[in-house]
Amino acid sequence: MKYFLLSGLLLAQLFGAFRNKPFSNKASSADNSFADFENRFMDVYWKQNPSGAIFAGYGKYYDELKIPDSTAFASDIAFAKKYLDTLHSFDYNNLSSADKIDYNILENQLRSSIWYIDTLKLREWDPTNYNLGAECYELLNKKDLALNEKLQLLSKHLQHTDNYFSAALKTIRQPTREHTQLAAQQNEGSLEVFGASLADSIKASTLSVAQKDTLQQHIQQTVAAIKNFVAQLEKTLTDKNYAFRNFRIGETLFNQKFKYDIVTDYNAKEIFDRAVAAKNYYHGEMYKITKMLWPKYFGNQQPPSDSLVMIKMMIDKISLNHASPESVFDTINQQVHDLEKFIIQKNLFNYDTTSPLIVRKMPAYMSGATLASASGVGGPYDKQTLAYYNVADLSAMPREKAESQLREHNHYTLQILSIHEAMPGHCLQGVYSNKASSIIKAVFGNGAMVEGWAVYCEKMMLNNGWANNAPEMWLMFYKWSLRECCNVIVDYGIHCLNYSKDDIVKLLKNEAFQEDAQIEEKYHRATISQVQLCSYFTGSTEINALCDEVKKKQGNNFSLKDFHEKFLSYGSAPVKYIRELMLQ
Ligand code: ZN
Ligand code: ZN
Repeated sequence: MKYFLLSGLLLAQLFGAFRNKPFSNKASSADNSFADFENRFMDVYWKQNPSGAIFAGYGKYYDELKIPDSTAFASDIAFAKKYLDTLHSFDYNNLSSADKIDYNILENQLRSSIWYIDTLKLREWDPTNYNLGAECYELLNKKDLALNEKLQLLSKHLQHTDNYFSAALKTIRQPTREHTQLAAQQNEGSLEVFGASLADSIKASTLSVAQKDTLQQHIQQTVAAIKNFVAQLEKTLTDKNYAFRNFRIGETLFNQKFKYDIVTDYNAKEIFDRAVAAKNYYHGEMYKITKMLWPKYFGNQQPPSDSLVMIKMMIDKISLNHASPESVFDTINQQVHDLEKFIIQKNLFNYDTTSPLIVRKMPAYMSGATLASASGVGGPYDKQTLAYYNVADLSAMPREKAESQLREHNHYTLQILSIHEAMPGHCLQGVYSNKASSIIKAVFGNGAMVEGWAVYCEKMMLNNGWANNAPEMWLMFYKWSLRECCNVIVDYGIHCLNYSKDDIVKLLKNEAFQEDAQIEEKYHRATISQVQLCSYFTGSTEINALCDEVKKKQGNNFSLKDFHEKFLSYGSAPVKYIRELMLQ
């Protein structure tokens, strides 16, 4: 999964993609009342966040639109305080393990939402918070609603869009240039949602003339409001004297955001130090392998004196071994089956092979960014439990672009990609998470756990003999892992240590062996997001540490399969909470 540019609420909903079952079996009466509370809470939560409800698939409030003014933000804080009180009225010790985790997730979520409003104040400096494109697109693409119904809901949803955007303009004060640019661009893009294909849908519907007129009027009003919003943002951008806020949030806010978003006992600086140490360790290992492989790939050629340059030459050479644009789909398909066989044969999971993991051509609406990705179907309220491994159609891509994708995902890294995205990474974890999930975990699942798990699996599989310890595979694995630790260095470096763009380019080019386009994208991503780039490395660090602790505790009785089964049985919860229960 690739989580990009998502903050707070939206992030939580997208993490919900895999986790579907809203109700689990509860034993005691304390648990029953907690389950009731959860369901009651989620209903009022969606009422409070109707746009979020559209993404989650909670149909009751699709027609509502929250106006982002000071009243609304005050009401959000009051809401969070009220439900923190209600939550604290439960006796934590009387709850089941699963509910204890839910309790902790909810407490963090409510505290976090207060902090986002009263301390981080994203609403004031990140104008990308104001955009109706994605939710309206979602609404119009709901599979469980008839066309007329969707259009009627859309009409109501758009009723007060003029107030929405005028409140947004009043709420924004001293934004960053980066978020302003992005907001202008994204809102411009959102106009498409209200364009030709919507007009066709209206034509195709059987709404009455009056209903159609009202809808058209609401759409026109929305388009005008978006255009005005974009024009105001552009005006700020072209104002030479405008003092933009620095996109760097600084160490204090970064540490707090790290605590709320990732939910971990590590602090950000600790993770940064570990990432730097990991980077140096990988370089050492890569140099050893490169020296050993040198004669095989370069014969008598004199190696360069700079070890990083030498490693880069070896990476480039080995990357030439890759699938063709025509064969890559079949290669990946076969790989997933081999990986399934491997985890059973090596006794790593109680994997039920009847669970539906489907390798498919990537649907058009997701294509563009990556070669392959995992996805579930629908939001937390949908009942389907499929996991998809989407593979881009490289044969339809310009030759040059396909070739560079294939060097990046060569014979070796393609296997790591399949481990990470599908088996036993995201797709397999999604299957377990579906079984374990409460609605709280489905909606507020933890991204660091989900990404950390996929990263954990990469090394775990190699350690268990996948690829037979081929030195080429280890070299490529370290290159792959450099991206994860450098994500931390980039994120923390930019926001807390004032790293310049030049610092980032040097790091990623010389020390992580990345290409220019990739570096440009990463830098941009780090200027418009905070903390999310740390989730991969932090999550995997926590899982590895937990595995070591359990191993130590159980000694000779330790079984990796039991560890995996137990760990995944808690659903997509923060590793910190899973740890507390596993070490009890
Ligand atoms: Zn991932
Ligand atoms: Zn090639």
